[in-house]
Amino acid sequence: MSAVPEPTDERLREEQTASDERLREEQTASDERLREEQTASDGADATAEQIAADALLRPVRPLNAFEDTVERLLQTIRLGVLRPGESLPPERELATRLGVSRDTVREAIKSLADAGYLVSRRGRYGGTFIADALPAPRTGDVAFSRTDIDDALRLREILETGAARMAACRTLSATEREALWSRLLDVRGAAPQDYRRLDSRLHLAIAEAAGVPSLVPLVAQNRMRLNEMLDCIPLLPRNIAHSDEQHEAIVMAILAGDADGAAQTMAAHVWGSAALLHGFLD
Ligand SMILES: [Zn+2]
Repeated sequence: MSAVPEPTDERLREEQTASDERLREEQTASDERLREEQTASDGADATAEQIAADALLRPVRPLNAFEDTVERLLQTIRLGVLRPGESLPPERELATRLGVSRDTVREAIKSLADAGYLVSRRGRYGGTFIADALPAPRTGDVAFSRTDIDDALRLREILETGAARMAACRTLSATEREALWSRLLDVRGAAPQDYRRLDSRLHLAIAEAAGVPSLVPLVAQNRMRLNEMLDCIPLLPRNIAHSDEQHEAIVMAILAGDADGAAQTMAAHVWGSAALLHGFLD
């Protein structure tokens, strides 16, 4: 078994700096958007459609910029605010309206093109368009209501942020620390077909580390419900990369005994998948 690395102060500082930079970048984009919106509203003669587009394409939370951007674009597409064949507003405009970087918008567009919701065409009349036929949900016989999705996700937030906080407050045995670390490495190296299963195992290991035996079956049951929903949406590589970062931050915070950090990073992780589930399934 490999030794569990102790998080060094330097490592934590580096992560903090990187995350501060990301927040600043998103903040600048958001400030620009507010200024532009102010200018635009001075001479506003908005149609109902414009109002709907404005409400959906509002700034996203900076913690899950990618996932939230995917959610907003999907809402715009699935609610029919933008119709099949219509072109998506330019990247620069979307970035400003959503308050995120252009890179984030580009990645969200690429993911949704890969998933079949958008079509990119090159050339003089090129651009990104809403697909003529939107993909059908993956499992025809299972439909989830917004209430089901919200119920599962809110229960998850309560159970899993509590588990992360509790685990960080405990003095973990060497075996428990090893278990957390190796579950983390497993999911980081997972092949796409194993990803959900290994992700579930990591989340269960965190619940076990909380030291509350009756918590584990509750997390497992909630996770099974959630997996039925997650199985209906595509795996997005950018979301997996982001989840890997979040998983590491959660485990590092637990191992460092940082209860607030563990709870906050877990909450952010839960909100990221919530954004995708609402975007694809609502
Ligand atoms: Zn996860």
